[in-house]
Amino acid sequence: MREFAYARPGSVAEAARTFAGGGEAAFIAGGHTLLPAMKSRLRMPDTLVDLGGIPGLAGIARDGDTLTIGALTTHATVATDAAVAAAIPGLASLAAGIGDPQVRNRGTLGGVIANNDPAADYPAAVLALDAVVTTSAGRHAADDYFQGMFTTALTDGEIVTGVTFKVPPASAYAKFRHPASRYAVVGIFVARFAAGVRVAVTGAGPGVFRWAEAEAALSADFSAAAVSGLTLDPADLNTDIHASAEYRGHLAGVMLGQAVTAARRPHR
Ligand SMILES: Cc1cc2nc3c(=O)[nH]c(=O)nc-3n(C[C@H](O)[C@H](O)[C@H](O)COP(=O)(O)OP(=O)(O)OC[C@H]3O[C@@H](n4cnc5c(N)ncnc54)[C@H](O)[C@@H]3O)c2cc1C
Repeated sequence: MREFAYARPGSVAEAARTFAGGGEAAFIAGGHTLLPAMKSRLRMPDTLVDLGGIPGLAGIARDGDTLTIGALTTHATVATDAAVAAAIPGLASLAAGIGDPQVRNRGTLGGVIANNDPAADYPAAVLALDAVVTTSAGRHAADDYFQGMFTTALTDGEIVTGVTFKVPPASAYAKFRHPASRYAVVGIFVARFAAGVRVAVTGAGPGVFRWAEAEAALSADFSAAAVSGLTLDPADLNTDIHASAEYRGHLAGVMLGQAVTAARRPHR
C-alpha cells in the first residue's frame, strides 16, 4: 500500500484544518468504503484524517418530533437503540439490514451519506424523512443534499456532523437486497406525515430519488391497494449484472407495497 500520513484530530475545526493542509486528504470514519478503495488504488490520499477521535460526533438524541443521529454513529447502534426503535422503527430496521455484523459495527451514518453510493440504504431514509444534514459548514435539506451517483451538496473538506430526522407517525423500509453484499437492488422508504406521504427509492437508479406518483396515491389513501400495480419507468433505471432496468422497475412496485403494509402496522 502507498504511504500516507495519519491524523486523529480532537475537534471538527481541527479536522477541517488538517484536511485543508493535507495535500490530497480524505476523512475516514468506519473505513468500510474508503479502505477497500485505497487497497484497490481508486483512492490514494496523502493524509487520512480520522474523525473517530472527535467527541460528540456519535450519539442519538430525541427532541420532540425530531431524532438527531451523530455522523459517527454506527449502523449497529442505530439498529439496536431504543429511542430509534420507538421513534422511527423503519430506520432501525433499515440499519439492521445493512451488510453484515462487521460492516454494521464499523460503518457510520456519516460515511454512508458522504459517499452516497446509489445502492446504499440510508439515503432513502434521509430523503423520505425530510431530514436535515448538519455539517461543519452549515445545514443541507435532504431534497438538496443528494445530487446523483456518489455526488452530494458537500464541498471539499466539509464534514458531516449529524442528521436530524423528522419523526413520522408511520414509516417503513423494504429492500430487495443483493444476496452477497446486502446492498439494495431496490429499496423503498415510506414515511407518512400529516402533510402527506414521502417515498424515496434507492438502488434502482443512478442515485436516490423521490417517487412522485407513489407519494400522490399514498397521500390520498395510505394503503398497499392504492399503489397496487404501480411500477417505475425503466427508462430512468439502472441495468447491471444484478438486474435489468425492467426488473428494477417492477421490483420497486413490489417493495413499495411491502413498505406500506409494514408502515401500517401499529408501532407506538
Ligand atoms: C461488504 C460490505 C457490505 C455493505 N453492505 C451495505 C449495505 O447493505 N447497505 C449500505 O447502505 N451500505 C453497505 N455497505 C457500506 C457501509 O455501510 C459503509 O460503512 C459505508 O458506505 C461507509 O461508511 P464508513 O463509516 O465506513 O465510511 P468510510 O469508508 O470511512 O468513508 C466513506 C467516504 O465518506 C467520507 N466520510 C466519512 N465520514 C465522513 C463525514 N462524517 N463527513 C464527510 N465525509 C465523510 C470518507 O472520506 C470517504 O470518502 C457495505 C460495505 C461493505 C464493505
